[in-house]
Amino acid sequence: MGQVVMDRGAGGNAGGGTSANGHGATRIKSYAPATGELIGEAPNMSAEDVRRAMERARRAQEAWGALPVEERCERVLRFRDAFVERADELIDLLVRECGKPRHEALLHEVLVAADLATFFAKAAPRVLAPHELKLHLLKHRRSFIHYKPRGVVAVISPWNYPFQLPMRDAISALIAGNAVIIKPSEVTPLIALKAKEIWDGAGLPEDLLQICTGFGPTGAALIDAHPDFVVFTGGTATGRRVAAACGERLIPCVMELGGKAPLIACADADVERTARAVVFGGFSNAGQVCISVERVYAHREVHDKLLERVVELTRELRQGDPSKEFVDVGAIIFPQQIDIAEKHIADAVGKGAELRTGGKRKEGAGQFFEPTVLAGCNHQMTVMTDEIFGPIVPFMRVSTEEEAVRLANDSQLGLNAYVFSADRDHARRLAERVEAGSVLVNDVLSNGGTPDAPFGGIKLSGFGRAMGEEGLRDMCNVKHISVDRIASQKDPLWYPYTEGSYTWFRRGLRALFSGGGIVQRISEML
Ligand code: NAD
Repeated sequence: MGQVVMDRGAGGNAGGGTSANGHGATRIKSYAPATGELIGEAPNMSAEDVRRAMERARRAQEAWGALPVEERCERVLRFRDAFVERADELIDLLVRECGKPRHEALLHEVLVAADLATFFAKAAPRVLAPHELKLHLLKHRRSFIHYKPRGVVAVISPWNYPFQLPMRDAISALIAGNAVIIKPSEVTPLIALKAKEIWDGAGLPEDLLQICTGFGPTGAALIDAHPDFVVFTGGTATGRRVAAACGERLIPCVMELGGKAPLIACADADVERTARAVVFGGFSNAGQVCISVERVYAHREVHDKLLERVVELTRELRQGDPSKEFVDVGAIIFPQQIDIAEKHIADAVGKGAELRTGGKRKEGAGQFFEPTVLAGCNHQMTVMTDEIFGPIVPFMRVSTEEEAVRLANDSQLGLNAYVFSADRDHARRLAERVEAGSVLVNDVLSNGGTPDAPFGGIKLSGFGRAMGEEGLRDMCNVKHISVDRIASQKDPLWYPYTEGSYTWFRRGLRALFSGGGIVQRISEML
C-alpha cells in the first residue's frame, strides 16, 4: 500500500506511516502504492486481542510440539503446496499492495518461501535430531543434546518483503515445533492475512499460525504478552526499542535490522557483469531491500567504464505500475522513503556529488522515484553513510583495494557486502576482511533466498541468524541431558572432602593439564 491511513470511525482518517502509532484507530486501510487506490482493510488489534491470541497459540503449541519432526515437516509442506497452488492470488496481491514487479513477487517472495519450506522440511529431521556429545574429560558420563521447541515465537516484520520475510521465520519456527504469531507491517497487512487464509484453507491447526495486524503498539503488546522468542525484522531504531523490551522481560530475540551494503569493484572486475549487478542490486524492489547495493567503491582502473555502463543500463530500466505491464522497477511502498531519497540526493549534490541519472519523484498517481545514480560521492555525504532504502546508487572512486576495504568497514551497519574481481581467491581473501554478516563474490542479493546459509548482520545490523542450520536450531531451546555410564553409589567428586582426596586432586591437576598433560594429549588425539 505504501500509505497507511488509520480509520478513526466518526473522527475521520489521519494520514500515517510506519511512524504512526495508530492510537485510537480501529482499522488499517491499505492503498496500492502504484495507483493510490484503496485495496483493503485490516483490524488494528488491541493488547487484549494479542493476549488472547497468545493464549490460543500456547494451547495449540502443546500438541504440535509433541508431534515427531517428520510429521510437522509433512504438514508444513502441505502449506507450501497450498501457497504454490494459489501463487497467482499471492502474486496479484503482492503486486498491488507493494507495487512490486510480477517477477519479483514470484521469484523473491513466493518461490523463495516455497524453497525455504522445502529445504527446512528436508534438513530438519537431521538438524534437530538428538545427538550424543563425546565429553573430553568426564568419561564416566554420556551427554545428549536435544532441540526442544521454544513455545510461541513472535515474528515482527517490515513491509518490503511482506510474504517472504514473515514466512521465512514462521516456517522454520513451525518446523521446530513452535506456534507462531506474526505482527505484519501496518504498511502491508493484507499479504499476511492472505497467507493465513491459505494456511487455514489447507486444514492446518488454526491457532498455530496467527496474525495480529496493527501498528507499533500491537507489536509492543505482542512482546508484552511474553512470547518465548522474538524474531524482529525492521529498522535499527525500532530494533533498539524491541530489543530493550525483550531485554526487560529476558525474552531471547533475533534482530534483523538495516543494511548499507558496500560493493567493491576491484581493478580486474568484469565491467559488464559488475554493472549489471550494481543495477540489479541497487534497484531490485525499487531499492527497498536490506541488502541492496547502497554504495559502490570502484577502483580507478574500472571506475569510469563501470559508472558509464551503470548509467546506460539504469536509463534502460522500465518503471511503472506492475499490475498493468511487465516493468523492471515498481513503486515506492512506503511514501516517506521518497522524502528520505530526496534528502540524500540534496545533501550529496550540495556537497559536490554529480547526479548522473534519475533523481526525481514521478508526478501523477502512485508513488514512484526514478532509479538514480550519483557519482563523485564521499563519506561526508549521508548517502554513503546512512541507510537509503530506495533506488539510489552512489559511486565513489578509490585508488587501492585497501582504501575500498577501509571505507566499506567505515560503517555502523554490517549486513551484506559484495566484492567483484576476476580472481576469485583474491576476492575471497578481501571478503574475509569486510565487516558484514555475509559477503558475496561476483553476485548480489542471492543470499536473501539461500535457506542453506545463515543470514544476519553484525554491528547495528543486528544479531542472531535467520535461515541455515543455525537459524533453525535457534528456534529451539538446546537441552543437555547427561546420563551415568557405570552404576556406583559414591562419586569421588562429592563429599566428604578429605585431606587425602585433596592431595590426590592437587596432583591430578598437574597430571591432567600442565604442558603435554593427559587432557591436552587426549584433545590432540581427538
Ligand atoms: P520498522 O522498524 O518501522 O517496522 C518493523 C515492524 O516493527 C513493523 O511491523 C512495525 O509495526 C513494528 N513495530 C514498530 N514499533 C514497534 C514496537 N515498539 N514494538 C514492536 N514492534 C514495533 O521497519 P520498516 O520501515 O517496516 O522496514 C524497513 C527496515 O527494515 C529497513 O531498515 C530495512 O533495512 C529493515 N529490514 C531488515 C531486514 C533484515 O533481514 N535484516 C529485512 C528487511 C528489512
